[in-house]
Amino acid sequence: MSQDLFPHLPERINGLKKLAYNLWWSWQPEARNLFRLLGLYPWRESQHNPIRLLSMLPAEVLEEAASDEQYLQHYDHIMQRFETEITSSDGWFKNTYGKTTSTLAYLSFEYGLHPSLPIYAGGLGILAGDHLKEASDLGVPLAAVGMIYSNGYVQQRIRDDGWQDDVQMTLDRTYDPILPVLDEQGKQLLVQVPIFDPPLFVAVWKVAVGRVNLYLMDTNLEVNQPWDRAIAQYLYAGNLEQRLKQEIVLGMGGMRVLNALNLQVSALHLNEGHPAFAILERICEQIEKGETFESAFQKVRSTTIFTTHTPVAAGTDVFPFPLMEQYFDKYLASLGVNKKNFMDLGINPQDPNAGFNMTVFALRSSNYRNAVSQRHGEVARQIWSGLWQDKKPEDVPIVSITNGIHLPTWIEIVQLQPLLRRYLGEDWMDGQDYPETWAKLDNLPDEELWHLHQDQKAILIGQIDERTRMRWHQDKVAASSVLAFGALLDPEILTIGFARRMTAYKRADLIFYDQERIKRMVNDPLRPIQIIFAGLAHPADNEGKRMIQHIFHLAQDSEFACRIAFVENYDQELAQTLVHGVDVWLNNPLPPLEASGTSGMKAAVNGTPNLSILDGWWLEGYNGENGWGFGDGEVQGDRYGSDAVALYQLLEEKVIPCYYERSDDGVPHDFVRVMKNSIKAIAPAFSTRRMVKEYAQCCYAPALGMANINL
Ligand SMILES: *Cc1c(COP(=O)(O)O)cnc(C)c1O
Repeated sequence: MSQDLFPHLPERINGLKKLAYNLWWSWQPEARNLFRLLGLYPWRESQHNPIRLLSMLPAEVLEEAASDEQYLQHYDHIMQRFETEITSSDGWFKNTYGKTTSTLAYLSFEYGLHPSLPIYAGGLGILAGDHLKEASDLGVPLAAVGMIYSNGYVQQRIRDDGWQDDVQMTLDRTYDPILPVLDEQGKQLLVQVPIFDPPLFVAVWKVAVGRVNLYLMDTNLEVNQPWDRAIAQYLYAGNLEQRLKQEIVLGMGGMRVLNALNLQVSALHLNEGHPAFAILERICEQIEKGETFESAFQKVRSTTIFTTHTPVAAGTDVFPFPLMEQYFDKYLASLGVNKKNFMDLGINPQDPNAGFNMTVFALRSSNYRNAVSQRHGEVARQIWSGLWQDKKPEDVPIVSITNGIHLPTWIEIVQLQPLLRRYLGEDWMDGQDYPETWAKLDNLPDEELWHLHQDQKAILIGQIDERTRMRWHQDKVAASSVLAFGALLDPEILTIGFARRMTAYKRADLIFYDQERIKRMVNDPLRPIQIIFAGLAHPADNEGKRMIQHIFHLAQDSEFACRIAFVENYDQELAQTLVHGVDVWLNNPLPPLEASGTSGMKAAVNGTPNLSILDGWWLEGYNGENGWGFGDGEVQGDRYGSDAVALYQLLEEKVIPCYYERSDDGVPHDFVRVMKNSIKAIAPAFSTRRMVKEYAQCCYAPALGMANINL
């Protein structure tokens, strides 16, 4: 945060500090190299965190770089590009819609931007992080708000008996890529959140994501009441009242922060229902300017975008009315707002007494509503049809904008991106959402892609070994756990990856439905397979924890010959290594509960084909040649059993033979064809490039009152 962190940084390369505090470096291979070149081993030690790296490197090393002509040339070149890119307002958005001074506010509970900034739990956060990076790349005028959690999200430790322990720790934020936002007096900016009595303040931090700013609110301040300081302690507070307070801070506090920064917010994008109280804050602003509730509501509604992310009830927050009244009555009265006008907005007609439903409130109060895949759109229109009783379900106004991933973040950066640059052209990133760009992959020789993938697999297995070694060394875990963590994985055999939140509907243990059959596949002397699992269960999800325990027991079972592994602490870093290194990505949730899923996209663009149930995004992504799909037919009776059998058949008849069928050169050409088809079909269509352009076209531009100037 202060200069003190970098006492040895020479003036000549002082710009590295600014670069380290802008996550832009993380998706620019050349900028990343500026840090890597300072020392490969320290870079790894720093956990790829340049702030930590710069503060731990001895003066000699930094001095040496500052006097190395070649390094300086590279440095000057990158710093110039960096300054130009982050200060310019040019880009796709301006070229398409013209100039604007307006800002679009983007609010989310979590953001997964980089492993060095743990303020996310899973897919929703990663998606938000990718969204910000892409908004920066495209020049979308967006400012984001979230919260900083003193304890982050839980860490996962698997005990020797297979049970998940949830380890809470206070995070040291010294090396996080965050800087305090200062007020006119040079002190950290404090903003008062409405509603709270006694008053509640948040301190404001900033994360630079290219040219997009993410503002993070912290409540752990001396000025706050002791019981309120913990509001931002844990991501997703379990206690209902604490959760309500968090959502008031996120939504209402978030809008206040943007106002305090004098940003001209003209439209609002809500990532899930958690930040929806921002709508109320915007309404109140209008009322204070003299509007009636009704006219303010219509005005705010016309510029609000809401994305729903789940068809699962547990994903929707519902606050009992008495709790709502306790917090909102006085405030609404002070503004002259009729309480009923507000509370009615959150009533779900299908369950009117349950309380104030955040998703219902957001759906009613936004003009642009979307689900996150085609299939999820159909499901969401069904689920929420009660809100549009005059419409047939298929006409319910919830559209689909299928999720995507930020390609520069998720395509392996050290080996695969340079390879793509060679075969697709220097400017392949510019054309990343055009299939023509990727068609050039046909010129890539099979063996090159295959050998690169083998390297990635070796790296994955090496990292799993290293994690396991440390657990054995530091925590004296049982030998059977060491094996279950993946100590004896084999880089030569077909490796299936399965990593996601461990919860009932994701059915992580489906592949063990018929244990004898899967045991035969694992132990086949000629064509064996191994499976690597990872994923956290929510601390309150005992069913998810039992699923982990079940898998862990099988991984410890000698019958499975150390070919089942469970790797702890699934996070962005492990997600990256896994999707780069396994051979096939497995996903088999219970349809239609997977709204979209994004990890399969990450695998696909790295040439790791999907073996997945036809649900969520894969219904759109699968084309018959770029992986394998199953479980789309109507099912009578035991869905679990029939899906498992379909999976076994695909494995035995298609996937395993395809992988082991080798030519004289040792390359499985049929399998490599599927790998290439996977990259070719998925990269252009399931990138955030395509996704954010869709948001801009269908929601952002109209909400900001802009139109395509090229039409
Ligand atoms: C991508 C990602 C997810 C989301 O994956 P799903 O396919 O939606 O299960 C979750 N956690 C991490 C760490 C990720 O990188």
